[in-house]
Amino acid sequence: MEMPTPCERCNELFDLLNGSRSPRNPRIVICEECANKEQEEVNKEEEIIELQEEITDAKDTIKRNTERLRELGVAVKLN
Ligand SMILES: [Zn+2]
Repeated sequence: MEMPTPCERCNELFDLLNGSRSPRNPRIVICEECANKEQEEVNKEEEIIELQEEITDAKDTIKRNTERLRELGVAVKLN
């Protein structure tokens, strides 16, 4: 190891030259394994938010379209 550095996430020593910027805090360099793990977590969190937003949008669409269909005299049955 040329520049042994303790990882702020797992406390293991890693070579600073092989480290990666933390996806959550780009000001710090952490070991590659922790950086990969963090990136996966960030991706998962972003996907969860996206999926939740899509559900909210879909609910709004159902509500709006149902109201409009009823205005147009179409009987709409929701489960
Ligand atoms: Zn680490």
